[in-house]
Amino acid sequence: MFILKGIEQLEKAIVKAKKLRPRVEFDRFGRYRVSGSKGGYYTVLCKKSDNGYKTVACTCKGAEQGLVCYHSVAALSLHIGLARQQQTA
Ligand SMILES: [Zn+2]
Repeated sequence: MFILKGIEQLEKAIVKAKKLRPRVEFDRFGRYRVSGSKGGYYTVLCKKSDNGYKTVACTCKGAEQGLVCYHSVAALSLHIGLARQQQTA
């Protein structure tokens, strides 16, 4: 799990996500399934913590060690889009 504090920390994962183009499936708001590079799916949870930061958790090995994985980034881009829609609705 990691705390999203700025776009800089996502840059490497964004590059990877653009290259690998994982499929993101919507489960419910804040919960997504992202296809892995070796098949299967990882679950990504996005939520707002009490201090106002977004926290992102993925079930893959890298994320367990606190790394920003491309699954998280792929799910985040969908999540942020949906959050924006909710605010303007
Ligand atoms: Zn991941």
